Amino acid sequence: MSEAEDCLFCKIVAGQIPSTKVYEDDTTYAFKDINPQAKIHVLIVPKKHVANVSELAKSDPAQLAHMVEVAQGIADKEFHGEYRLVFNTGRDAGQTVFHAHAHVLTGEVLDE
Ligand code: 5GP
Ligand code: ZN
Repeated sequence: MSEAEDCLFCKIVAGQIPSTKVYEDDTTYAFKDINPQAKIHVLIVPKKHVANVSELAKSDPAQLAHMVEVAQGIADKEFHGEYRLVFNTGRDAGQTVFHAHAHVLTGEVLDE
């Protein structure tokens, strides 16, 4: 089985595992995190499988920039355009799903 075939977020993008969609276009999918760490906690993923944000920055920087634009759009709607964007990169940094994803935390005043 390839890395992508066994990937939780590839399965969510493909609709094989249900999720609460927040945004979708040709390249990008956003959905609510199952274990929210803020009032609004959304995950933004590229539809194409890539292991982490660093690999994404190398292989498709325009996709990464687009994910920031999508995060901004969510925050514009939910919380006067202000948000925290987190990319856990590597197991020891807390990455548990090895398909690049941006955590968008917004909807309330966040702790520093
Ligand atoms: P990481 O720890 O890799 O940066 O983030 C993975 C995130 O995926 C976690 O915040 C976790 O709550 C979320 N997550 C894990 N499994 C699922 C799932 O099946 N559905 C959704 N919507 N989120 C998930
Ligand atoms: Zn994947």
